[in-house]
Amino acid sequence: MLVILHPNTDEGSEEFIQTWSYLKNLKDIEVRRHLVQGRMQSLTELYLIGNTIALRKEDILSLPAVERVIRISEEYRIIGRHKDDGYREIGFQYNGVEFNQDTLHVFAGLCAVDTREHVEIMMKALQDHGQVCTRMGAYKPRTSPYSFQGHGKLCLPYVFELAGKYGIKVIAMEVTHETHIEEIDAALEESGRPTGVMLQIGTRNTQNFELLKAIGSQKEYPILFKRGFGITLSESLNAAEYLATAGNANIIFCLRGMKTSFASPHRNMVDFAHVPVIKRQTRLPVCIDPSHSVGSRARSNDGLLDVFHVTAQGIISGANMVLVDFHPKPELALVDGPQALRMDELAHFLEDVQVAHTAYKSRRQLTEKYLGMEV
Ligand code: PEP
Ligand code: MN
Repeated sequence: MLVILHPNTDEGSEEFIQTWSYLKNLKDIEVRRHLVQGRMQSLTELYLIGNTIALRKEDILSLPAVERVIRISEEYRIIGRHKDDGYREIGFQYNGVEFNQDTLHVFAGLCAVDTREHVEIMMKALQDHGQVCTRMGAYKPRTSPYSFQGHGKLCLPYVFELAGKYGIKVIAMEVTHETHIEEIDAALEESGRPTGVMLQIGTRNTQNFELLKAIGSQKEYPILFKRGFGITLSESLNAAEYLATAGNANIIFCLRGMKTSFASPHRNMVDFAHVPVIKRQTRLPVCIDPSHSVGSRARSNDGLLDVFHVTAQGIISGANMVLVDFHPKPELALVDGPQALRMDELAHFLEDVQVAHTAYKSRRQLTEKYLGMEV
């Protein structure tokens, strides 16, 4: 059961204390508190866990600090959608950028930071094309221990400085250990916080529950959470729920393809058909990663790269974010060069994204016309 308190309820107030002590004394019920910092107000959500069938909704509604009571399904209590919870806020704002299930942002950038020069070329190109988001890998989880593992904290000062110089507001950056959050935080502080960071959890760490708890328990940075490449969608969504239960529900769920030999000649089996599924099961914005899905620069007979094709497939189904590898010199890239797009393909890519997005919006209008649904 989900109990929502009146907006901006002060936890020292008489109303709160009375409500809290009533709920805490319920037999066989555990109460968990979750604070949602919205754009206009802060909301306290209390989750009653245990034998809630026996509880009467009216009794709880009559407590002084309570605004609403919702019976929720067992699954994805925080990130999920539940009956009658349509008014709950979807998405979040970070560093001046809005992320929800209707917005669309492209995070084009380097899979792995290699040189300052390449970072600068990338960021300048993004600014020239009106972009304020990017991806920059400093900590790289690699299959082989002998492969380049990323420059780690050594590259952070110039990555953040250049982001500030070129007006980049959000950098998606994978972290593989909780100490990386401290390193990122220290480097941002040192450079005067010229940009923001979205902490990325890679597919190899989807079920690293201790890492999820550590990342979820900080509220400064939003989280880009990648679907596990060899587990069910439900298992991945439950893993994302770990972040939320630890305290941070500012999460974007990213599809990046599933590992199976049937995917060949693609690197992973593209799973973007799940974009609308996640949007209906959860309140999370959905990202697609066409680069790690396709894994190459293969080009179709129609002239379009497969990376372009699958990007359009995800966007035409309503994806809210695209994480895509670019590199000034893919042949020199230290990680995932074969799938990187080139700088001279950026304008084409961004325009193609808009074509697909316009098509998606037209499809919604068509649905409104035929089904009369509010879209
Ligand atoms: C990445 O985005 O650089 C990455 C390693 O992706 P994934 O975790 O999906 O393999
Ligand atoms: Mn990669």
